Amino acid sequence: MDHFQYRDGILYCEDVSLEEIAEAVGTPFYCYSSAHLKDRFEAYKRGFGKRKHLICFAVKSNSNLAVLNCLSGLGAGADIVSGGELFRAIKAGMRPERIVYSGVGKTEEEMAYALNEGIAMFNVESLEEMALLSKVSKKVGKKAPVAFRVNPDVDPKTHPYISTGLKKNKFGLSREQALYAYKKASTDKWLSIKGIDCHIGSQITEISPFIDAFRRLKDLIGQIEGMGITLSHVDIGGGLGISYKEEVPPSPEDYISEMVKEAQDLDKTIIVEPGRSICGNAGVLVTNILYTKENGSKRFYIVDAGMNDLGRPSLYDAYHEIRPVRQLNTETEIEADVVGPICETGDFLARSRQLPQLSSGSLLSVMSAGAYGFTMASNYNSRPRVSEVMVHGNRFHVVRKRETWQDLVRGETIPEEAC
Ligand SMILES: *Cc1c(COP(=O)(O)O)cnc(C)c1O
Repeated sequence: MDHFQYRDGILYCEDVSLEEIAEAVGTPFYCYSSAHLKDRFEAYKRGFGKRKHLICFAVKSNSNLAVLNCLSGLGAGADIVSGGELFRAIKAGMRPERIVYSGVGKTEEEMAYALNEGIAMFNVESLEEMALLSKVSKKVGKKAPVAFRVNPDVDPKTHPYISTGLKKNKFGLSREQALYAYKKASTDKWLSIKGIDCHIGSQITEISPFIDAFRRLKDLIGQIEGMGITLSHVDIGGGLGISYKEEVPPSPEDYISEMVKEAQDLDKTIIVEPGRSICGNAGVLVTNILYTKENGSKRFYIVDAGMNDLGRPSLYDAYHEIRPVRQLNTETEIEADVVGPICETGDFLARSRQLPQLSSGSLLSVMSAGAYGFTMASNYNSRPRVSEVMVHGNRFHVVRKRETWQDLVRGETIPEEAC
């Protein structure tokens, strides 16, 4: 969060005060630091050194065109999970040959679109998906580059909802299934085997689960190549964590250096699919206190952003630090819940926090909101989605306009037939 600092008591993103942005665009809004995106991306690059690699940013973590364009300019590719994300990635200027396509539920239409665009590879997650992809490739008249996603069955020691590499999770193929899939794909003239892929979970704050998974992958690579199949790419997935509170995750550079060490004897391009570790601490959600109130002993700050704008606290009980945009001179802190305007008990951004005594009209900054923030936003309670702003040094740009009430009903019609 180095790019969000107080200056003379006001919270800044790089060289722009969040108060100034709030005045210009209203609240709530997401604010992203381009310098942070750049720093984190460069840290990944440094970790790889001279090693052949491809850094595919996980678009689902933040799919704003300006964010994608910024990373693309630095050399990033994309890890996509839908046709819509492919559309965004291409629109943002990402090169198709740097795009990998993950996800358990790719449709025929999405496969055809990705084939025609010429993406780097499909990370196939089931035998039925492989069969359909072969059929679509034949129809399109283009061989599909594939990797199989294997489930290495390692425990990433993270929240159960964001752990994906255990046998009980829906993702990937078991070792036995994978061997069968490689054999089958090698005889299919519409499939071209490129690599192997895994992704064990998210918000992982230690290197050891990544190393465990990688060793299992290497083992499997040995077996696959033993069958006479050559792999040119190893995709180690994403999942590196960030500091929300007191976590001390390894830096991207240290994590990748370790992986590169593990890969010393492998003459293959390494693909990594980071999302959160690039954009998580690049963004904040700025919200305004509408009301304060007390119910018995409990104090509430009712703010204009809700669970539809930032779902992580309700969904995963995630912790986001809350900072006042304008620091107070007083030291007195009180315990308060920061809650949104939505008609749900689960609509909170923070619970039982020590916060300064604030009044309505004060701005709060919800930290570490750059990943899985806006991309998970919805229109629940018919709330227009908020604007997104990107800061470059001492300038800021609105990179997504706040939705209007008109936007909310776009595409809806009332049938002529009376009810
Ligand atoms: C979500 C996801 C990622 C990115 O995960 P982060 O934890 O944000 O780094 C990468 N690869 C796949 C397949 C994913 O589903």
